[in-house]
Amino acid sequence: MTTDSKIWVSELNARPEIRSAFPRATVRFYDTTLRDGEQTVGVVLSPQQKLEIARKLDELGLSRIEAGFPRVSPDDVEAIQLMQRANIKAELWGFSRAVKGDIEELVRLGLHASVIEAPTSDIKLKAYGISRDDVLRRVIEAISFAKQNGITAAFFAVDGTRTELEFLKKTYLAALDAGATEVVVVDTMGACGPEAAEFLVRDVCDWVGPKTPVHWHGHNDFGMATACAVAAVRGGASWIQGTINGMGERAGNADIGEIALALRCLYDVPIQFDLKKVREVSAVVSRAAEYTLEAWKPLVGDNLFMRESGAVASQFHIPERWPASFISPRPSSRTPPNWSMLSAALCWGKRAGWTALI
Ligand SMILES: [Zn+2]
Repeated sequence: MTTDSKIWVSELNARPEIRSAFPRATVRFYDTTLRDGEQTVGVVLSPQQKLEIARKLDELGLSRIEAGFPRVSPDDVEAIQLMQRANIKAELWGFSRAVKGDIEELVRLGLHASVIEAPTSDIKLKAYGISRDDVLRRVIEAISFAKQNGITAAFFAVDGTRTELEFLKKTYLAALDAGATEVVVVDTMGACGPEAAEFLVRDVCDWVGPKTPVHWHGHNDFGMATACAVAAVRGGASWIQGTINGMGERAGNADIGEIALALRCLYDVPIQFDLKKVREVSAVVSRAAEYTLEAWKPLVGDNLFMRESGAVASQFHIPERWPASFISPRPSSRTPPNWSMLSAALCWGKRAGWTALI
């Protein structure tokens, strides 16, 4: 049984005018739980915990794992070395500023690929006290150096969604000229709605051409990170960056599991991600990072298959009338989709009716 065959969604999603806006090529996920995710306030993951999480991420079939930012963290160096010895199947990527010393550290560790970041918005440039010309020069130097040392580079334009478009274009093209092979559209402050995300990704895809993979990296400040990532796919992004449970600083990053579910089940977009494992991985990550998830959180919350309301609970007795919550099992089954570790359950409370008991 396929995962999505047990998910009940509206037929409206399959309408040609909706479906045709999505690409049929596989969307892949770049996980940054161990780097951007660890920036969640109060979270520190030990190298051993990072290895345990990396192994679980690997079970999800994720294409890439961002293993850390080794120049600034001896613990990340140790974590990366543990992962390198663990035969992780996903590509291990590093993280680096457009700074030669950061890249030298990647080379020393034997990493072969990295995101290389530089700020592009005037707000960020002013905060760092550097000019547009300075940043262009740094990007070109750093990416050329990475290329000379055999490192595949994805250029990551920090605060790209608040950057003047002509300068953003100039920086991406300069990065590609210097040897970057991929670019990342970055909504650092979670400042875009889905329409703006789609607009920008479509523009960037036009600038860089069809042979250059475009990533989307978003945050959840308006609760729109999943919607923005889906919109970015519509705009042409073939890689989505995010974290398990959406963990990250402020309101968090985009939640890779939620995005995978939406792309696969609502829009029939092929993905490289095993939804059957996501609850297990979510639990491992939240336990290691010592936080508790909302019980009502999509895909991984504890309450998703429980019903208390009498009106809804009564439908558990009439298979044809299963509630049409998009995550509910199909009417033909009383068990949750096979990627859930939970059983459907009714519970007694002030909104329950007699059907919960009989
Ligand atoms: Zn981020």
